[in-house]
Amino acid sequence: MTTTLPAYDDVVARYEPVIGLETHVELGTNTKMFCACPTDFGGEPNTRVCPVCLGLPGSLPVANKAAIEATIRIGLALNCSIASWCRFARKNYFYPDMPKNFQISQYDEPLCVDGYLDVEVNGELVRIGIERVHLEEDTGKTLHVGGSGRIHGATESLVDYNRAGIPLVEIVTKPVPGTGALAPEVARAYVTELRDVIRSLGVSDVRMEEGSLRCDVNTSLSRPGEEWGTRTETKNVNSLRAVERAVRSEMLRQAMVLDSGGRIVQETRHFHEDTGDTTSGRSKETATDYRYFPEPDLVPLAPDAAWVAELKAALPELPRLHRRRLQQEWGISDHDMQSVLNAGAVELIEATVAAGATPAAARKWWLGELSRRANEAGVELADVGATPAQVAELQGLVDAGKLNDKLARVVLEGVVAGEGTPTEIMTNRNLEVVSDTGALTAAVDEAIAANPDIAEKVRSGKVAAAGALVGAVMKTTRGQADAKTVRELVLARLGVS
Ligand SMILES: [Zn+2]
Repeated sequence: MTTTLPAYDDVVARYEPVIGLETHVELGTNTKMFCACPTDFGGEPNTRVCPVCLGLPGSLPVANKAAIEATIRIGLALNCSIASWCRFARKNYFYPDMPKNFQISQYDEPLCVDGYLDVEVNGELVRIGIERVHLEEDTGKTLHVGGSGRIHGATESLVDYNRAGIPLVEIVTKPVPGTGALAPEVARAYVTELRDVIRSLGVSDVRMEEGSLRCDVNTSLSRPGEEWGTRTETKNVNSLRAVERAVRSEMLRQAMVLDSGGRIVQETRHFHEDTGDTTSGRSKETATDYRYFPEPDLVPLAPDAAWVAELKAALPELPRLHRRRLQQEWGISDHDMQSVLNAGAVELIEATVAAGATPAAARKWWLGELSRRANEAGVELADVGATPAQVAELQGLVDAGKLNDKLARVVLEGVVAGEGTPTEIMTNRNLEVVSDTGALTAAVDEAIAANPDIAEKVRSGKVAAAGALVGAVMKTTRGQADAKTVRELVLARLGVS
């Protein structure tokens, strides 16, 4: 079998990819799904547990209403139908991080079904069908000690049940065919949009790096006109960029196997961030392996139609429409809006405008100086060290003539370094523009006296030569004078104006 990966363009010319995504979202409820244990991230291992989430004999689960409400709101935001009656199901499997040896999930009766999410890729709208949105509980975490962190080579495995029982929403797309070469980008755009939708609902912090948003990516290839190929499920995809890379990598690998007459095995695969490729995990279980049956310890779930209607009416403006409205309000082109999106600056600019800056000024600071600093520091723009209120305050000082652009950047440097508010930094570091005409006039006279030749040229009508005098004044005032005012003063003192 050949082991050389084919070229991507060549693969999409000969094969059609079908992708599908399964996303798990940890809800930000105060308590766990079936008990009253707290859910916050972190904490000493096994301190947020009780008989119910430890699966001790005789303990009984009680469903968390806030989690059900959050799931219904996600379903509604994804244009799903909400079941008027459904049940939880037991999914049986044995794993040390699952104390009961079964997970309470939903099987053939999910809470939300048959919706869609529209995403934009290269300015085109792609509709991703949503198969189902259901509610389940998270597992604990196993820690392998004394090796690389994986089970192989570890001397001990420790288990932490703090996460066991945290409400988890699973969102499964329908298969997405027909995206061709764009398949990796569509997958990434979908997860990005889903994250933004869920964040706008305020039901989860959806942080991939903390695992509150987790994604499995299904990929298959087929030749045009043939049936869809066997799919693999890639796990361990922990960033938006990894979603895109995982699809691309799996498309290349499958094409290589198919080209050499091999067949694709239905299996889970693991994505490796460092190499950007996937390796084989376990062969995929089928539903029968889990021996699902209705959960006998819980009553059926029957959300009242009036309650669902109330939740639907109270949904916030969803991100795509919100972005479109902002773009109109800011009066910017699709291309400029895309730059804002790519920089992750939508909310920051919105908040800066709300704090009093013009959209143009807010965009200038966030996409310019602050994006550059965030890149240099390798942090997200939101974590760069300046807040929207501070940026608006800084721009206010510029608008009031107290700072020029150059000084404002020095002040911003202080803000990012945590020295205080823009006004405090301007005052403490004595950076305010010199607007005292007396002091400026003295500096202008000094410059004229020091450069008699240039002064004479200006007097004789060569007004352009005044630039050198303005420069000299700016130098003695350490850039803190307003150049326009200095120029006016120079011309006035030399009797030209
Ligand atoms: Zn508990």
